[in-house]
Amino acid sequence: MASVNRQVKYKIRKNDMVMVVKGRDRGKTGKVMRVLVDRGRVVVERLNIVKRHSKPRGAASPGGIVEKEAPLNIANVMFFCDRCNAPVRLAVKLAEDKTRIRVCRRCGEAVGND
Ligand SMILES: [Zn+2]
Repeated sequence: MASVNRQVKYKIRKNDMVMVVKGRDRGKTGKVMRVLVDRGRVVVERLNIVKRHSKPRGAASPGGIVEKEAPLNIANVMFFCDRCNAPVRLAVKLAEDKTRIRVCRRCGEAVGND
């Protein structure tokens, strides 16, 4: 039984550039900080900011209003292809060396494979 990379399910990975295609931050792009696979959500740098009021917890955290990224539904973001300069769908292909690579469906280039 081959091991399954669960993130392949969503095709979006940490450090990908994505564009929000739905909701308040629609049209904005940012870098994926975390993929919450079990919840089907992603946390994107500087997007979907919510303000949290935190209580003072000693000298290191004086409290106040903290701005923090809230997770976005993964269905509301798309991979942003540098080459196409557009949000695109990805395909997953098997490379010659049998590794899975992600390919932009629009320009056909391999993307985000390190
Ligand atoms: Zn492309």
